[in-house]
Amino acid sequence: MASEHKILHGIGVCAGTASGPLALVREAPGVDEHEPACTDPAADTERVKAAMEAVVASLKARAEKTTSDKSRAVLEATAQLAGDRGLAKAITKRLKAGDGVTHAVYNAVEGYAEMLKKLGGYMAERVTDLHDVRNRTICELRGLPAPGVPDITTPVVLVARDLAPAETATLNPETVLGVITEEGGPTSHTAILAAQLGIPAAVKVSGVLESVAEGDTIALDGGVGEIIVSPTEEEAGQLAERSRRRAAALAGSSGEGSTRDGFKVKLLANIGTVADAEAAAKFDLEGSGLFRTEFLFLGRETAPTLEEQTDTYTKVLQAFGDRRVVVRTLDAGADKPLAFANLGEEENPALGVRGLRLSQRREDLLDTQLQALANAYEATHGDLWVMAPMVATVEEAEWFANKVRALGLPKVGVMIEVPAAAIRSAQVLSVVDFASLGTNDLAQYTMAADRLKGELANLLTPWQPAVLNMIKAACDGGKATGKYVGVCGEAGGDPLLALVLAGLGVQSLSMAPKKVNAVRAALRLHDMSTCQQMAAYAVDARTAADARAAVIALADPMLLDLL
Ligand code: PEP
Ligand code: MG
Repeated sequence: MASEHKILHGIGVCAGTASGPLALVREAPGVDEHEPACTDPAADTERVKAAMEAVVASLKARAEKTTSDKSRAVLEATAQLAGDRGLAKAITKRLKAGDGVTHAVYNAVEGYAEMLKKLGGYMAERVTDLHDVRNRTICELRGLPAPGVPDITTPVVLVARDLAPAETATLNPETVLGVITEEGGPTSHTAILAAQLGIPAAVKVSGVLESVAEGDTIALDGGVGEIIVSPTEEEAGQLAERSRRRAAALAGSSGEGSTRDGFKVKLLANIGTVADAEAAAKFDLEGSGLFRTEFLFLGRETAPTLEEQTDTYTKVLQAFGDRRVVVRTLDAGADKPLAFANLGEEENPALGVRGLRLSQRREDLLDTQLQALANAYEATHGDLWVMAPMVATVEEAEWFANKVRALGLPKVGVMIEVPAAAIRSAQVLSVVDFASLGTNDLAQYTMAADRLKGELANLLTPWQPAVLNMIKAACDGGKATGKYVGVCGEAGGDPLLALVLAGLGVQSLSMAPKKVNAVRAALRLHDMSTCQQMAAYAVDARTAADARAAVIALADPMLLDLL
């Protein structure tokens, strides 16, 4: 029997609607409470080893099958964790202490996860992957079917407590109509990967698991985060109508980004690899506004060589031809630790030696990177802009600018993602050519709220008037100095916020390539004077909700179809 009709709300993380039968993602079964204690550690080590090898093989087989580079990278990274020698040793230690096989795996992984959590940031995010490895290994040892996404042959809406990155990355948008999770946050892997795949998704939908059963019909609006269990015919019709309207609002979105009255706002892509660059370059967009070069450095034992970096940057510039490419130098440090630049553990990694601060202590790393960029520029003469992450002071900006200019590179800038740089942006901008606003970190530091914590989502939204104040301060600095200011944080990909940012004077918006069409359509619906009025109302609003409501009230009604 179908579950009772119910409407639930969560956080919409990928716009679009979906409706269909739901499939539940199998939860992990946990340890075998009745298993015997270990009496032969050598034999049990072999058993666990065989189980983990089977897990590695199945993850690798899935990696080979997928057509997406991102999915492959996630699956391979998870397989690598499953083959980690440190983890295998920790399991043997537990077996020697008498744990049964599933308990040994469970306990050893817990210890390992604690260590990753302490490292914070990027490493802490790997904990979900590690738990995925644990659950798969325990199922293998217990002879149970693997947990997670069932085999899908007909289109379904997936409902899960949470999804491991390896699971999300391999979803096929043709058979997975939508994704709904009980837990997770807007910056979780699930959210980011679903958006990359373009699958409508909502996270943090409290109570969804107890409200549904396998096979129920469920409808989802991934824009507003609304879920309808057993929708009525009328509701299903309304949703289908929304979907038609969205397609109509997006139809014909092409060409340069500009407001209705012709004020240009460049639409750019956020990228992290050569493959990203090549994929993004196929979209109708104007270049890349953020190349996160740390992807080239993370998870490696030694720094990439000058030749390797030259080759990568050359390929990225070639992919975009004469379109702009804004390269951000290495943004690593305590939260994205590098094995070859380990400056020790920090109590507060987000406030530690990261970004440009690390580059100042490991100047050799930065110098090699800048030389590689100079070589790539020499080879391509592309429209290369170079910027530094996590700049807080004028001295830092000046130090960086001097280095970049000494190499003859054409444009040097800074990220504005620290409040200190936002409120002193005129001074900071006076020593560089441009600034790009990192709204993710700017929100984190303005609101003193960890950006990885889903439960702080309400504080972290760039609609918070305090964050908008910071953005305005940075833009005012741009106007005062006549310098260029763009945005490359997630805020740039929200069609509604894009209008506010344009109204504040932002000249480019950089985002996941799939978001460009909706942002372009939103800009084309409005004049600059309306954008400016929206910006003024939003900055003056009392609360984040008031700010958003004020902007919606001034927007063209068709804009709602894009959200
Ligand atoms: C930001 O902080 O907004 C940003 C774009 O940089 P990252 O997300 O890589 O920290
Ligand atoms: Mg940042």
